[in-house]
Amino acid sequence: MINQVNGTTRILGIIGYPVRHSLSPVMHNTALRACGLNYIYVPFEVAPEGLERAVNGLRALNVAGFNVTIPHKTRIMPYLDELDSSAVSAGAVNTVKNVSGRLIGYNTDGDGLVRSIDNQLACNVRGASIALLGAGGAARGAIAALCRAGASRIVIANRTHARAAELAALMAGQFPDTELNVTADFQELEARLADIDLLINTTSLGMNCDTQPCLRLTGLSRNAKVYDMVYAPPMTPLLQEAVGLGIQGVNGLGMLAAQGELAFTIWTGVTPPSDLMKGVLDGICGNQP
Ligand code: NAP
Repeated sequence: MINQVNGTTRILGIIGYPVRHSLSPVMHNTALRACGLNYIYVPFEVAPEGLERAVNGLRALNVAGFNVTIPHKTRIMPYLDELDSSAVSAGAVNTVKNVSGRLIGYNTDGDGLVRSIDNQLACNVRGASIALLGAGGAARGAIAALCRAGASRIVIANRTHARAAELAALMAGQFPDTELNVTADFQELEARLADIDLLINTTSLGMNCDTQPCLRLTGLSRNAKVYDMVYAPPMTPLLQEAVGLGIQGVNGLGMLAAQGELAFTIWTGVTPPSDLMKGVLDGICGNQP
């Protein structure tokens, strides 16, 4: 176990604005200590107008890597030296690795979601019929990863139809094996839930003070699963609706942990102990694992 920073300590971090709410420093530093790795992970608050200078500064300081969060995930792309295919298909970067001074952008959010669905809901995405709420940044990464993982059909439901249609067209060009449909009518979706295996909320609905579920789930099979990317509060209105109907559902803490595990391995080559990061997050958020 490494206890103190010394002359050979490597630096990892997260850039965002704001960033002080981030759970990533405690999650990664716990895992780095558990793995006996001489790294430290720190938050960097970077305002939008300082992004390019910050990226060049991190390169000049030879940091080992860093995470990227709101509002920089898309805007950072032109400032990097290379993009992994995960970042290209998601249209966003959440992880950067420094390889001999070249900054390479990855996206682990989508694969983190698929890993969390598999681990926590025991749900195989391959061949699944999925309803996905939202068409923002989180939805794009999610859909790319779900298509890569072999989803047979995804219905994208979003308040702004044009945004969903644009996203579906973009994904259809890359993933012709997945059928993609679009609706802006949540009530219409409610009436078509019977053949859905997995329902995923990628919108911000359900955060903080929301009390009503963003969708009524009475039409969903009791064998279907519900994944809510929102994790504050831990029991969102959508999850309350699912649990009330006897449908298994989980919040987005598992995704947060899984994207972190994947980033950790990209930077260090080491796989953190299974469930360690999730356990840290559950402890902080008062989540029932
Ligand atoms: P974003 O790009 O701003 O997209 C927001 C989405 O929510 C859009 O689809 C938007 O619809 C929809 N929306 C917002 N307010 C709405 C309302 N009142 N009624 C209906 N739809 C509404 O944000 P994002 O980056 O995709 O993030 C979305 C959520 O995912 C956030 O809560 C974020 O915390 C969460 N997230 C979680 C994780 C995790 O690790 N668990 C990772 C990433 C994101 P319109 O297109 O119509 O505006």
